[in-house]
Amino acid sequence: MTPARAHVLLVVVVAGFGAPVSAAQPLALKAPAALPQTPPAQPADTGPASGSADRLLPPQDAPTQSAEATPGPAQLLDLLLNRGSSAKPGPAVDHQEPIPDGNDPATLRNACWTPAQLAGSPTDRTIQRGLKPDRTPPPAWAIRAAETALPPLAHGLKGSIRSVEPADPQARLVALTFDLCEQAGERAGYDAELVDALRAQGVKATFMAGGKWLRTHPEQAMQLMADPRFEIGNHSWTHANLRVVEDREVREQILWTQAEYQVLRRELAERPCAQAAGAAAMSRVPAWPVVFRFPYGTCNQGSLDAAAALGLPAIQWSIVTGDPDKGQSAAAIARAVLAGVKGHRGAIVVAHANGRGWNTARALPLFVPELLKQGYRFVTVSELLSAGRPVAVEECYEERPGDNRRYDALFGRGSKR
Ligand SMILES: [Zn+2]
Repeated sequence: MTPARAHVLLVVVVAGFGAPVSAAQPLALKAPAALPQTPPAQPADTGPASGSADRLLPPQDAPTQSAEATPGPAQLLDLLLNRGSSAKPGPAVDHQEPIPDGNDPATLRNACWTPAQLAGSPTDRTIQRGLKPDRTPPPAWAIRAAETALPPLAHGLKGSIRSVEPADPQARLVALTFDLCEQAGERAGYDAELVDALRAQGVKATFMAGGKWLRTHPEQAMQLMADPRFEIGNHSWTHANLRVVEDREVREQILWTQAEYQVLRRELAERPCAQAAGAAAMSRVPAWPVVFRFPYGTCNQGSLDAAAALGLPAIQWSIVTGDPDKGQSAAAIARAVLAGVKGHRGAIVVAHANGRGWNTARALPLFVPELLKQGYRFVTVSELLSAGRPVAVEECYEERPGDNRRYDALFGRGSKR
């Protein structure tokens, strides 16, 4: 997408949103960085229900950004990630190099699970449908803690973030994100093959997990939590369409998910394996999820504000893999990623790890080595945010403003109406 097109889009976004931003005030920024080319059009996200409707979300690039000066997201992220004063400034990238088993960062993971347990099974990706919805909230202590856990979002992190422009002109970063969506009446899956492939290739990634998914997959959730290469983000409790539910529900969907993470983190900390690994190992597990993704990629100003009030930046995407489409081959996914990343230095890729991504695991070997060869490094979303300036827009969409309106009539609280 060219800057000119980006500007046009921006105007559309502003107009559609009714925001008091003048078109003559082109939210400055450097929009270009995030405008990948155009991959397949399938939305991708989640979790809905059946068949072809399984594709719900994602998208692609973005126009511009909010005009405010960059307020130091690095410091904020350090704070949110509980890195404390020992945090190193600048892009936090290490990886790609395999982390030796039994060594530092992976101590907790290796102390609590064997390689065979971590590898899981092909049946883990099975999705069970038609279940009775679990409406039980997380314990009150966890919800209360979540309410004040994170400071309100810094201004520079507001809006629907579609990519990041790294401050370092030499940096070439890619954030792979995998949604773990789970609707009210189902138990979604877990793509063990995909996670195993990420581990095998030493690739960092972010998993946007539904709160109910965390509850129905405690073991896998804790495995991801304990893995130094992975970050867990918040993807709402039951994959509700936060553009159409009431304000109170929006807040609950976000808060309950934060709380469920906390419940599991405490459970992990109390396990003998974690205690044997030591407090330092456990302290590497982020205290809270610090990034959020809207189900179906749908939001409005009220839900954006609700996430911001709880300290969570809304992470959209700049590259859609289209992986919920059975017809999207591994080669096609790889082409979408490679084409989307080309010429951009802070892309966010959306795919699925909840059993709804069909050829995702097999696509990794087709694009990961190539991107590494091109000098790209894989980072978590938090690391990407701390590396530069978020490119955000005021509306949530898949690839262009208004393209996910269809979900408003289909989904409310995370199940068909
Ligand atoms: Zn989703």
